[in-house]
Amino acid sequence: MANLSSSPPSTYRGRLAPSPTGYLHVGHARTFWTAYQRALAAAGSLVMRMEDLDPDRSRAEYAEAALEDLHWLGIRWQEGPDLGGPFAPYEQSNRHSIYLDAGRKLLEGGFLFPCRCSRKDLEAALSAPHEYLSPSENHLQSSGEPSNGDMDPLDDEPVYPGTCRTAVVTMPPNSAASEFVEPGNFNWRFRVPDGEAIEFDDLNLGPQRFVAGVDFGDFVVWRRDGVPSYQLACVADDAAMKITEVVRGEDLLKSTARQILLYRALGLDPPGWFHCRLVADRNGRRLAKRHDALSLRTLRQRGVMPQQVIGAEVLTER
Ligand SMILES: [Zn+2]
Repeated sequence: MANLSSSPPSTYRGRLAPSPTGYLHVGHARTFWTAYQRALAAAGSLVMRMEDLDPDRSRAEYAEAALEDLHWLGIRWQEGPDLGGPFAPYEQSNRHSIYLDAGRKLLEGGFLFPCRCSRKDLEAALSAPHEYLSPSENHLQSSGEPSNGDMDPLDDEPVYPGTCRTAVVTMPPNSAASEFVEPGNFNWRFRVPDGEAIEFDDLNLGPQRFVAGVDFGDFVVWRRDGVPSYQLACVADDAAMKITEVVRGEDLLKSTARQILLYRALGLDPPGWFHCRLVADRNGRRLAKRHDALSLRTLRQRGVMPQQVIGAEVLTER
């Protein structure tokens, strides 16, 4: 445990960002435990932020379960939906105005364009395989929204073919807010700087490099249903909550490159990045919330101890 008594106040601020779209599993536990340990080692603060942006997929019971299961593991945080704090509210569903401000800045800065492509348009243009999406999740592809917030996103969405990119946006600043607020028939996409290499030093995995327009394309920041994208909400929140280090799964490395572009466009300093190796099941498949047998809830009910979960004795790490 960190000794807080004789150290000067730490400026380290980390965060836990579960999405309440299912029960947390062993993979989440390992990543959150790492985040907790990093905050402890720095004698810093840890923020709990509930990423319940998607009204169709988020459930209050899963949000409650996430707090309970992480407490059971022994993880503690200093700010959150259950504790309050200086940057409340800590549920993304209650932070719409913050995302609206960020989105408006991007729009006024000329970084966005409206995309009217339907999912079918994109599929036709890309002729890409979509086997990673079940039919019920197909709507997520057109929005670029990860399926599970910080933990199980669709980081590898196909590169946007640029169909709507030529559209020149001359949006009067005052109209921006209503454009975002009212669900429309288009997504707002961020125009990435084609060919530019986005580089960062990951504190766990070392130097990273992704080329805009090649490794990832123009991504959605505001969905046609009026909901901000994961990328935008994450950046707006981490900046507003003064997060100094983001600990999350390595499946988000490309999203980090996207988010670095958002930080730059918004004139904000990005935090440090620490991406964790993912936990796989015995067949080498990455854990997802559909792996009910490995949910913290199920393991608890079977009498598995927290330290076994953190050590992931039931699994093999890839
Ligand atoms: Zn389009």
